Amino acid sequence: MENYLKKLIGFRHKLHRHPELSGNEKATASAILHYLADTTPAEKYTQIGGYGIVLVFDSGNPGPVTLIRSDMDALPIDEPPLVPYHSLQAGISHKCGHDGHTAILAGLAERLTQAPLKKGKAILVFQPAEETGTGAQAMLQGNFPAHLSPDIVFAFHNIPGKEKHRIILRDGFFASASRGIVIHLSGKTAHAAEPEKGINPAFAIAEMIPALSQLPEKMKSQGYAAKITLIHLKVGEIAFGTSPGEGVLMATLRTRSDEAMTQLCTATEMLVKAIAAKHLLTLSINYTEIFPATTSHPQANSKVEKAAKSLSLPIEKNNDTFDWSEDFGHFTKRWPGCMFGIGAGTEQANLHNNTYDFPDEIIPTAIALFEKLIKNSG
Ligand SMILES: [Zn+2]
Ligand SMILES: [Zn+2]
Repeated sequence: MENYLKKLIGFRHKLHRHPELSGNEKATASAILHYLADTTPAEKYTQIGGYGIVLVFDSGNPGPVTLIRSDMDALPIDEPPLVPYHSLQAGISHKCGHDGHTAILAGLAERLTQAPLKKGKAILVFQPAEETGTGAQAMLQGNFPAHLSPDIVFAFHNIPGKEKHRIILRDGFFASASRGIVIHLSGKTAHAAEPEKGINPAFAIAEMIPALSQLPEKMKSQGYAAKITLIHLKVGEIAFGTSPGEGVLMATLRTRSDEAMTQLCTATEMLVKAIAAKHLLTLSINYTEIFPATTSHPQANSKVEKAAKSLSLPIEKNNDTFDWSEDFGHFTKRWPGCMFGIGAGTEQANLHNNTYDFPDEIIPTAIALFEKLIKNSG
């Protein structure tokens, strides 16, 4: 066990040294396949929805079919050289712990080779492009093997700020629905000496910012939790002789259900349309990086709870402290299942912070838990 774990942690550090952005996980995928060369899945699929990999471990006997998914992409964040295995790719690093999630799934594949299933099947899914919200959909609506139909699906995310090994469960809503909104405004350029002859979108944008910031309060009064985070704005070019004619405003919309997202989009569109019209601007709205809400089914949560109890892991239910998004929602929309959290340490930096690093100590915890879930399901 000791050697096996040492090798697995070495593999996590290797992934950490060579991070790849969403949709570009080519070397990561080949590192996984190379690492798992000695494992014995009954079926193996590569290039699923991009660089995704699907392994099927089959007992040959009837029984539950359990799917476990991990993500594998890194982020456009520069990592300071704080650990000996720091990122060798300038401007890219594993700051969400997907290197750890991948190592855990690889470790699970090794366990299922050493101690094969006695009944049913396990489907292990290495998913690309989670951070952009495109990978799960690309796999499931793309070339994911159609004959694979799990009874239940599981995934976890490490959660900084929570004691290591603590299992975090939420019935229903687990991770937010979110999407980027890109608001383009077109007016008319003019000489900076004659701004009254143009239509400068700066004034409309200045009006939109406080109006958008107040929308979540209004949504709250209708019973919906919502957040709007302004992330980018640009008006014209740096040209002191020109009154600008083009502007763009971008924001991230976040809610706790897909229904609330529909409401928030409608409210946002009505608001910006009214302001654009008032300023005689042409408006176009696009959405990007669309994540559905990730919903956890109570019966899947109770399986995790049972498995966690049998491993004497601390359990925390229905906490309300994080609000990020996850594209695992595409899986829980199609099949019953749940996403849960595993504490990454109370002293750990937050996800996407440049000093964050996945805690290796929780690797064996997660593997043991997933192994229990697969072997006890049904
Ligand atoms: Zn992330
Ligand atoms: Zn993540």
